[in-house]
Amino acid sequence: MILPENLPPVIRHWIGGELTDAADGRTFDVTDPVSNAPYAQAARGAAADVDRAVAAARVAFPEWSRLSNRARATTLYRIADAVEARHDRLAAFESFDSGLSITQARGQARRAAENFRYFADVIVALGEEAYRQGEAQFSYVVRQPVGVAGLITPWNTPFMLESWKLAPALAAGCTLVLKPAEWTPLSASLWQEIFDEAGVPAGVVNIVHGIGEEAGQALVDHPDVPLISFTGSTDTGRHIIRSSAQHLKTTSMELGGKSPVVVFADADLEAALDSVVFGVFSLNGERCTAGSRVLVERPLYEEFTRRLAERAANVRVGLPSDPATEVGALVHPEHYARVLDYVEIGKKEARLVAGGTRPAHLAEGNYLQPTVFADVERDARIFQEEIFGPVVVLAPFDDEDEAIELANATQYGLAAYIWTGDLKRGHRLAHAVESGMVWLNSHNIRDLRTPFGGVKASGVGREGGARSIDFYTESKIVHVAL
Ligand code: NAD
Repeated sequence: MILPENLPPVIRHWIGGELTDAADGRTFDVTDPVSNAPYAQAARGAAADVDRAVAAARVAFPEWSRLSNRARATTLYRIADAVEARHDRLAAFESFDSGLSITQARGQARRAAENFRYFADVIVALGEEAYRQGEAQFSYVVRQPVGVAGLITPWNTPFMLESWKLAPALAAGCTLVLKPAEWTPLSASLWQEIFDEAGVPAGVVNIVHGIGEEAGQALVDHPDVPLISFTGSTDTGRHIIRSSAQHLKTTSMELGGKSPVVVFADADLEAALDSVVFGVFSLNGERCTAGSRVLVERPLYEEFTRRLAERAANVRVGLPSDPATEVGALVHPEHYARVLDYVEIGKKEARLVAGGTRPAHLAEGNYLQPTVFADVERDARIFQEEIFGPVVVLAPFDDEDEAIELANATQYGLAAYIWTGDLKRGHRLAHAVESGMVWLNSHNIRDLRTPFGGVKASGVGREGGARSIDFYTESKIVHVAL
């Protein structure tokens, strides 16, 4: 296996501008998903470390929050440049640590940089509201950053998802403490040099590594952190909302999904197939918006199933560092075991038409041949539960009503994809499906101005565009007699 250059032997916290060990000196093993052996140690944060980080963020808050929007935006542009300057190193780190194919990891720096540039533009363009009641009263809104934001992020495309929170929080004038996911802390070690190079003052951004139940929980429980932005699993999200109630914190929850792809017989078959293959097998299927339940109108069902199985069999599974690889290694042996459990459950619940095993040429590492199950009943566990790997389930439907019923038959509601040649029907479906986001004859193209988030068990709240700034600020109204 090839190790990326400049791997840090120890991944430290970054608190008040200093790289530091945990207060009690504890560390945890960081492994890669090919050898599953430790390649580094990371500081194992606990309440004392979170206390220090929150204190540093509080000290930095007055100066950072009082800067003009333009001044903060200028810094955000410098951050974006510093991110892009590390394009190759970030891709190598991300691929090595999370198992993402290097080709797909290469897009991450550009997307992360775009988050900083975009929120810089938003904060400069955003005005504040004013109201006038005849000649009697004038009222205006003051938008104020909430203070120290707590950011908690998952292990899938970790750096990019961290940037999705860091950028609006900083643009809004918050200082913050970030707790990256413990399975993939490596790319977060780049933030220190990025923020230093961009001239972000010490203490504005603080990073505490560690286990969710320890460092993450301490951040959620901290009385001086009024806001938690969380992306992760639905169960953890529920737990964080319960814990946050103690201090009545503002929370944003971007949670799990089991998103349907509805394919009508009049759809552009090639485009729909391409979209399904991309949607559930790219990023190793470890994608919150993966189209993991494919519902196909009966006249097309057998052909679609056969062709999807063929396409799945041709997906190249291999070493994450190989540019030819399309599906790399799943992030961690625990997650791999969970995905394999679902595959075994699926073999009992449905008809396996592709994959279902480790590829023969890969003896070690967390690899799974892209897997397709057909004839999956709606109460099957593989239909209902998020697998978060390269596994897709197929079921037929007979008419529009049944398509809607099946699409809505899980607890989740993050994304939905609809493929049809009849645009009126497409819009009807788009309105009826229970999800925060719908792509109609299109897939996964994001526009940062649009609301991002889910309904039902997929989340609470929307981020994206000015909504993100709303989340990281409080609106205060000032009434003035005229
Ligand atoms: P997870 O819930 O296990 O962990 C997410 C983060 O929460 C990690 O940093 C973890 O350390 C921390 N955490 C765990 N317990 C905690 C606690 N008690 N208090 C505070 N923090 C705690 O999720 P994961 O397995 O890392 O990520 C995969 C999940 O994330 C999937 O369900 C996926 O769908 C979801 N996800 C959602 C979106 C979205 O935008 N909706 C995006 C990406 C991932």
